[in-house]
Amino acid sequence: MSEQKKRIAAIKGTKDILPQEARKWQRVEAQAKGIFELYGYREIRTPVFEGTELFEKGTGQTSDVVTKEMYTFVDRGGRSLTLRPEYTPSIVRAIIENSLHLRPQPLRFYFIGPMFRYDKPQKGRFRQFHQMDVEVFGEEDPAIDAEIVEMADFLCDSLGVKDRNILVNSVGCRRCRPFYREDLEAAAEKHRDELCDDCRCKIGTNPLRIFDCKVETCREVAREFPKITEYLCSDCDDHFRQFRSYLDSYGIEYRVDPFLVRGLDYYTKTTFEIVSAELGAQDSILGGGRYDDMMKDFGGPDICGIGFAVGMERLLTLVRSKEKPDIFAYVVTLGEDAKKVGMDLARAVRRTGVECLIEYKKRSLRNQMSRADKLGAVWVLIIGEEEVKKREYQLKKMESGEQISYTREELLEFFSRAAR
Ligand SMILES: [Zn+2]
Ligand SMILES: [Zn+2]
Repeated sequence: MSEQKKRIAAIKGTKDILPQEARKWQRVEAQAKGIFELYGYREIRTPVFEGTELFEKGTGQTSDVVTKEMYTFVDRGGRSLTLRPEYTPSIVRAIIENSLHLRPQPLRFYFIGPMFRYDKPQKGRFRQFHQMDVEVFGEEDPAIDAEIVEMADFLCDSLGVKDRNILVNSVGCRRCRPFYREDLEAAAEKHRDELCDDCRCKIGTNPLRIFDCKVETCREVAREFPKITEYLCSDCDDHFRQFRSYLDSYGIEYRVDPFLVRGLDYYTKTTFEIVSAELGAQDSILGGGRYDDMMKDFGGPDICGIGFAVGMERLLTLVRSKEKPDIFAYVVTLGEDAKKVGMDLARAVRRTGVECLIEYKKRSLRNQMSRADKLGAVWVLIIGEEEVKKREYQLKKMESGEQISYTREELLEFFSRAAR
């Protein structure tokens, strides 16, 4: 084999989702869409790539996502473009650009699709990964924070995700967070020597990110740091209190985790995560929070937002279910005339809503039957010279072995009923 031929392979950090697995994806996506729509969310689809400045501005200049992980390239027109590393900035841009904020609020959107980050590939982490994303704009009431957590919990429940916990926190706002940051920075500075290199860099730039570090010694040190919940202004404190009271009235169990700050810069007030012990160290199934200043920061209207993102790859490892087997009919024919009749019948059967395949290779009847059996056909439609002449066709039910002669009309009637 030539050097060139050998090199064709999927890019590191990407993977093929093969048909059997794709079935599971389809089912999970359909279930999620159904649930989101019950709460009034509607799908929005935006381009896979955007101008680089959108993410620089939206995700935050100091964010790891921007500084280390973006797929950025210059196109033939000399523009700097980036494959989206997260979804929220794209939605915010689309709202402003299409004046969606002029429609009745709150605006509720969902989205399912691929994201791209030049991350260190590791188990369960991909450079092209997939997210489901949910966003609400224009609702300040903490009841929406509780509703969105309740919906996320319902989604996990309906997919049979076990052993899950809900974590909530408030990260304050632009008024109260600076005081916290100051004290946090001082505390981190005192323990500089005990922190990893990454965390040391974060002390001066974004000390809140130290809480995201997975290094055990850093986590231990960080546990002694001041808690943001003790610094909330009265507005943030009220919001957090009400949010929790609404969760209580739903009867939803949760734990307040004062160190849940989430990795991104734009969060204000509520943050939350649903975690599963089954996932190990990277235990988050989904996470999100409020971003009340983001739209304004983008030069858009001053409307608040809240949302969450679900990592599909991780979620799918927790979804356990047998996918239903394919139910289909298989047409076997003998001779050119029978083939044409068979093709026409297969076409008509598909229009009744039943999957139908036809054998095109010239094989013996026996050979075709064993192939149908191997593929798992539920019914086999047999058409030979005799059947063409009589205009009656043999339908074999594979499970029982029963064989019945049908006219075209009877056959289509049979499949119409089977499709229901
Ligand atoms: Zn505040
Ligand atoms: Zn660290």
